[in-house]
Amino acid sequence: MALMPPMPTGEVRTEICTECGGRGWVIESDGGAGAATPCDCQRDARAPRLLAAAGIPDRYLGCTLANFEIDEQGRLLEAREVCSRYIEQFVTERGRFTESGLLFLGRPGVGKTHLAVSVLKELIARYGVRGRFEDFTSFIHRIQATFEPGTVDSKNSILSRATEAELLVLDELGAQKPSAWVSEILYLVINTRYNHRLPTIFTTNLRLEAPSSDEPLDRERSAPSEDPLSWRVPARLISRLYEMARPISIDAADFRVEIKSHQHNF
Ligand SMILES: [Zn+2]
Repeated sequence: MALMPPMPTGEVRTEICTECGGRGWVIESDGGAGAATPCDCQRDARAPRLLAAAGIPDRYLGCTLANFEIDEQGRLLEAREVCSRYIEQFVTERGRFTESGLLFLGRPGVGKTHLAVSVLKELIARYGVRGRFEDFTSFIHRIQATFEPGTVDSKNSILSRATEAELLVLDELGAQKPSAWVSEILYLVINTRYNHRLPTIFTTNLRLEAPSSDEPLDRERSAPSEDPLSWRVPARLISRLYEMARPISIDAADFRVEIKSHQHNF
């Protein structure tokens, strides 16, 4: 796992870690000279900085798996358990972060973003993951804003925070009617992460499948949440999404959590 360069925080640390004496690493016995590994205190010290850098909106900062509401019928329980297993298995047996992500599908209000943020926060706290949250619409708007004169952030810096994060949450995928330009940005982000084998958690109000022939859908009248993903996401990206993330359909309306097993194990 990549270590982040130290960031200036202005804080003065007065306590010296008793495990490493403040060096930041400890020697673990390996039968020979020993191996230097990062001390737990480094992870603990990094977590607040990583959390602040992750860009999680204030309204979601309090989200945890523990306060994700499961009603008496136990609906959504399975979705929460998938998240728990994902966190447990995020570091693979080879000691690397997993390449697999999650794709939460469901209508607005079922808690997709709550789950995604909960996972992101826990991975930061537990493993010191350099994570990033991006709401897709505001992500696109921020990139567009860089074309205005006098903006501080460059298009590349906004893009690289998303493409290089060790875990990216891309919230509300397909919320925008994709212009060719928006599709190009989306393709760039997803394809770069795919090529670098970086995990991404997507949420979308859209449906996974196109409506079947016995279920006529008036494109003009249907709510956005009834659109299939393929109408809002370029076709060449749909197969990428399947490879990168395990789809989890959360349908609170009929108390059903449909979990499609794919090549993903959690
Ligand atoms: Zn230490």
